[in-house]
Parts: sequence; structure tokens; C-alpha cells
Amino acid sequence: MTVQVYIPTSLRPLAENRANIDAPAGSVADVLNGLTARYPAIRDRLYDECGQLHRHVSVFVNDAEISQLQGIETPVRDGDKVALVPAIAGGAVDLGIDFSQRPLTWGPEQVQRYSRHLILPEIGGVGQKKLLRSKVLLVGAGGLGSPIALYLAAAGVGTIGLIDFDDVDMSNLQRQILHRTSTVGMPKVESGKRAINDLNPDVNVVAHRVPINSENAMEVIPQYDIIINGCDNFPTRYLVNDACYLLKKPLVDGSIFRFEGQATVYLPGQGCYRCVFPAPPPAGAVPSCAEAGVLGVLPGIIGVIQAIEAIKLIVGIGEPLVNRLLLFDALEMSFRQVKLRRNPKCPLCGDNPTIHELIDYEDFCGVAIPSAPATVSA
Ligand SMILES: [Zn+2]
Repeated sequence: MTVQVYIPTSLRPLAENRANIDAPAGSVADVLNGLTARYPAIRDRLYDECGQLHRHVSVFVNDAEISQLQGIETPVRDGDKVALVPAIAGGAVDLGIDFSQRPLTWGPEQVQRYSRHLILPEIGGVGQKKLLRSKVLLVGAGGLGSPIALYLAAAGVGTIGLIDFDDVDMSNLQRQILHRTSTVGMPKVESGKRAINDLNPDVNVVAHRVPINSENAMEVIPQYDIIINGCDNFPTRYLVNDACYLLKKPLVDGSIFRFEGQATVYLPGQGCYRCVFPAPPPAGAVPSCAEAGVLGVLPGIIGVIQAIEAIKLIVGIGEPLVNRLLLFDALEMSFRQVKLRRNPKCPLCGDNPTIHELIDYEDFCGVAIPSAPATVSA
């Protein structure tokens, strides 16, 4: 005798990203006990300290809310469907992070610096403090990473990690506005740290001067709340996608090429890069920006969109760019959106995944991850 329990997206990261879970029949209490025995992390999200169901979580048996039936003692029979439905406002996503436990510097200087945020009711002091306590990793301190880093720093994101192995080259300055003529030759993470702290000393910049790879990704990514992709090559794109899914981290993705750009947000369990692009193009089929060129302003457009999406996720406002791919064409000056869906056949996040750990991405993509300084990056 089992019943099916529907798990809302906000709780799926705590339940192996599954949408439906079988639990023993009995009463609603028995069903929830079975569920929380299997996935203990869900317990705190369902019950308060007194063991009562949180009021912002509704439980439905078939189509009726249990408060209209017999509450937690409502009988559930073989074949019934139980649904957990958390309250949501405006489609915003709750990342489930308890920011309040993290240290915070807050005084007259912060009130003045962030005053234009503080008067927005959607952000206010509560949202600004979340930003100051948040930790965001930028993969790449190049074209996309530059506007993302500067705007997140200005907005008061408290910890910004920069992972990039490269040094600043004169040819970067046409678009990489994080860097300066005076920092040519300096590691990008150091040049970036200098620019960020000159803009906002509230920001703790963590410099990772390494190429992200299968060895270090699982150590670096868990230190952050949100990962923003600003990389310029396919092995890194698949690596970051896979690592974020396996570590249940939101990924704000962006890419640019000549006059076009794309942006989307992948939340764990709601589709991934491999759902859209199961395999990389054959090696050499798609030229890099170093080979084909890129309009200097283009990463500014896409990077700023990524920065906005990260701020929305941290503060918990608005409709995230989830299950939608935003396409920008600078020559037409047009924005388009296409719908994305989780692909049940996805080898990573599908129903029968074949990828359970990071793989050799250079082998998978047939190209090397650029690792020598002075390589031109996006
Ligand atoms: Zn997928």
C-alpha cells in the first residue's frame, strides 16, 4: 500500500531532485513520517520547533487541503495522491539559505551607500542584508565576468569569488571593463579584486587563480550560494553545469558570440545545460571569440542580465529566468525567448541519469580547456 507524494520544486533539492516519491499509506502523518525518515532534511522545512506543520506549507490529499478534511489524521489510501504545496509569492524562488546566521557589517555608511536599494520595498533593509551576506562565484573574470563583478559589487554582494587563471592582456580591454591599462600583465583575479574593492570595500573578494577543472570544482563551488558562468569554452561550460547540478547550486548561465548572446538560469532539478545541448559541437565547428571576434559592448548586455538574475535569486523577488532561454541579437536589436524544459532523457538530470560524477570534459568536448596565460578569453 503506497501513495505518491508530490514534492514542490523548492524541496526537491532535499529529495534527490525527485518530483514524486512513494510513501507508505495510512494517515497523512504516516505518509509525512515515511517521507521525512527517507529525506530528513525535509523535516525542518515542513515542521516548526513544536512539531506542527508550518503554516506556509499546505498538504493536499487528492484535490482537498487537509485542514478541510481530518488534518494530519486524514486517512490516505492506496493510489491516493498527496501534494506538498509551499506558499510562493510572485513566482520567486526560495533558495533555502539561512542568511541570518552569517556575519554582517551594517552602519550609517551602508545605509547611505545602499539607500537607493533601501527605498525599494522589494529589496529594503531585509534584501540588502541578504545581498551583503551572500556569496557568489564568477567563473571567468573576462568579458561577462567584468560587468557581473562590478554591478554585484556595487549592489553589495558581500562575497564575490573570481576563478580565472589568465593574466590581463591589452586585447582584453576592448570589453573587459573590470581591468585597466594599468593592470595589463597582472593576474585577472588580482586586477579584478583591485577594481571591486576600489568600488566597494564592503565586498570580500576571493581570488582563485586556477583554471576550474574536475579536480577543484567540487571544492570551490560548495563555498558559494550562486554560480555565474562567464566562461568561453565548451569543456568548462559542461563542467560547471554538471558540478552545479551535482552540488545542487543555482547556475546563472550566459554566453556571447560575435553580435549574439544567450542567458538563462538553471535551478537544480528544473533542467540543465545538457537538457538543451546534450552534446558539444564537434571540435573546431564553433569558433571561439578569440577566433571569430565579439562586439565589445555585447558581454555588457548579457552580463548585466546575469547580474540581475543573481540579485533576484538572492533577494527572492520576481520571476527568475528559469526554463526560458533569452536570446539577444545586437544587429537586429531584438530579444527573443524560447521555452526550456527538463529533458527526462537528460544524461545528468533526467529520470535515468548516466552521469553521477564529473567526467573528463576535454575528452568529452574534444578540445583542451585553455590553461596558458595570455589566451584571449571571452
Ligand atoms: Zn539536464
